[in-house]
Amino acid sequence: MSVKICNFCVMDNTDPDILFDEKGQCSHCKSYLQNLPKLPAQQINADQLLQDLVSDIKRRGRGKKYDCVIGLSGGVDSTYVAYVVTKILGLRPIAVHMDNGWNSELSVMNVENIVKKLGIDLYTKVLDWDEFRDLQLAFLKASTPDSEIPTDHAICGTLYEVASKYNIKHLISGANFVTERIMPAAWSQGHSDYRYIKNVSQKFGTLKLSTFPYLNSIKRFYYEKVRGISFVPIFNYFKFDLNEARNIIEQELDWQDYGGKHYESIYTKFFQGYILPQKFGFDKRKGHFSNLICAGIMSRDEALAKLKNPPIEEKEIPYLKQYVAKKFALSEGELESLLNLPVKSYKNYPNAYNSVWYIYSRKYIKPIYRFLIPVGDENV
Ligand SMILES: [Zn+2]
Repeated sequence: MSVKICNFCVMDNTDPDILFDEKGQCSHCKSYLQNLPKLPAQQINADQLLQDLVSDIKRRGRGKKYDCVIGLSGGVDSTYVAYVVTKILGLRPIAVHMDNGWNSELSVMNVENIVKKLGIDLYTKVLDWDEFRDLQLAFLKASTPDSEIPTDHAICGTLYEVASKYNIKHLISGANFVTERIMPAAWSQGHSDYRYIKNVSQKFGTLKLSTFPYLNSIKRFYYEKVRGISFVPIFNYFKFDLNEARNIIEQELDWQDYGGKHYESIYTKFFQGYILPQKFGFDKRKGHFSNLICAGIMSRDEALAKLKNPPIEEKEIPYLKQYVAKKFALSEGELESLLNLPVKSYKNYPNAYNSVWYIYSRKYIKPIYRFLIPVGDENV
């Protein structure tokens, strides 16, 4: 297949769903540029919108120990959220950190530093390693590009659990339009789809998911509609500069860089830097850089130059393979066999979109079907 690359951003036809117009511009950056002006941060009254939001969070948190929940992986985005929420907006967060067994030593150090410097409480959720290992292996056996979704799903489930436990109404998230809008569904999907996760576990796993912090449609309905908990993508409310954010957290919180987006987890680094590009042909940097190009933070030439280098340095791969195999209690040969399984996709397995409930309710009971859609995967 010949590679066709967008002439505005750096997305290309390694995304099977990409469309190009007659001028050679792709559907991703066109959609980005069309939707950017709708962000709260782009409105004339952006300051007021942010102020109103913060006032509402403070009002609904009055008399409680915390007024919001934040996730804290130790990565640049979540660290900056912690800084902004505490130091700039004057909120009283509880930080939630999930330990799935793969956090690098540096990320553990960063998290400890951040909460100490900001004087905030930390709630650490440690996943049951045997169960989580079994689930991660099940995804490698399923052979889809979605091996990282159990982690994302568990984080989301844990954030809601903590919010519900402390009766907090707002989950403040670093997920944002400006740096994250462009990322093809085909490169990783099903983050919020517990039907998919459960089915992969049942088909390829050996252990039952009994402690995994899942979030199915019923739980989501309960948290959102009964408990009134909502996600706040705070970076959509003000213009933020990624480089400035990095400088601030380095100076104020002694934060140290990992050398790649989400590389605070060793498995993410291995999966995103090695398995995804090598086995599936998906290089997530194309999405990350395309966002930055659309935001005017990076030039297309700079992105193309960076893409000439591999996502992780060649010399790191043997060490990472060895580490991952050992952690999974596999021989390197066994890990290699898993990586060599034929490529499959989300659509090859039972998921939220091919459930009878979804198909039926979409047709007949519209208010219900919206709750059966995995959040963030609406474009499947
Ligand atoms: Zn484009």
